[in-house]
Amino acid sequence: MHQNQNLIRPDIADMAPYTPIVPFDVLSQRLGIPAEDIIKLDANENAYGPSPRVYQALANEPYYHIYPDPGSTSLRQALSEYTGVNAAHIVVGHGADELIDLIIRLFITPGDAVINCPPTFGMYRFDTELNGGTLIDIQRTPDFSLDTEAVERTMPHCPKLIFITSPNNPDGGVLPDACLRKLLALPLIVVLDEAYIEFSGGSRAQWVLAHENLIVLRTFSKWAGLAGLRIGYGIFPHWIGTHLLKIKQPYNVNVAGTTAALASLDDVAYLLDNVAKIQAERERLYDALARFDFLQPYPSQANFILCRVVGRDAAALKESLAQQGILIRYFNTPGLQSHIRISVGKPSDTSALLNALSAKN
Ligand SMILES: *Cc1c(COP(=O)(O)O)cnc(C)c1O
Repeated sequence: MHQNQNLIRPDIADMAPYTPIVPFDVLSQRLGIPAEDIIKLDANENAYGPSPRVYQALANEPYYHIYPDPGSTSLRQALSEYTGVNAAHIVVGHGADELIDLIIRLFITPGDAVINCPPTFGMYRFDTELNGGTLIDIQRTPDFSLDTEAVERTMPHCPKLIFITSPNNPDGGVLPDACLRKLLALPLIVVLDEAYIEFSGGSRAQWVLAHENLIVLRTFSKWAGLAGLRIGYGIFPHWIGTHLLKIKQPYNVNVAGTTAALASLDDVAYLLDNVAKIQAERERLYDALARFDFLQPYPSQANFILCRVVGRDAAALKESLAQQGILIRYFNTPGLQSHIRISVGKPSDTSALLNALSAKN
């Protein structure tokens, strides 16, 4: 231990170390399978990749040597057309992940409470803990619905924020309008994470105009295939956006990401056609998974399918698929014991997965 160890913030010194995922190229070497032959269905990335216009725009971008526009003016204008919300409501981030952190930093000082509704995306917990907030976990019901009454019962603790994902990661279920209305009636800020909304439709981005306590988060990572370039955005009420801009790093969004996002918004029809292919593949994959007696898939509105694994070891199943170069996500957290999540890829990815699953039978 270093002699100055005690200078580290005590809450961080006590934190468990982060367990990083094995990078793609390292895994490919370890398995002896070329990277392009690995079927990556573990992180809900888009198997179709970016629009071809993204590669062209990145190759032709002349201003990599100039700092980016801190206000992301052109991208926010293009996003305004895409979302139908005035650009003044939009803040762009280095992925939606950055905006989750910024929102928590804006509202939470140590001890303030944040409502998290697991099983769900892990970053709400991570950023709340990192910022010294107190998590109130309101476990979802066995079918992954939100327990709005349990949320209402937390009001005496004066929670400042609630994070809701719709469609939810990892089950793919959508939050009904009636539930969202109940949450919006509470004295807190509702952060609705719509990372997968293009796969379900029915965005509530417009609701922000009518609700001063609603924030909607979106991203280019999933529908537009830009996960590696880190572009997300949020739709904010004016009174929140103004303060958020004060604490954002000026150059949080880089030139390459901006260029790629603009080129994507210039090719929406192409990208939504890929989304439609993924939606169709989701239904094929669901039906096929349901035919295995050891898998119970949940209906999903996103680009992944959660399955309960019955009568066999889910961790071993994940590992055996990994040995064959097929990566899926395995969970063993409360509410997700013995579950796996499979991202929807191309038809050829589904076929390879089904082959591997059948061979194991
Ligand atoms: C993937 C994911 C994100 C991450 O978005 P980035 O823009 O890549 O940071 C955010 N929220 C949920 C629920 C996700 O699953």
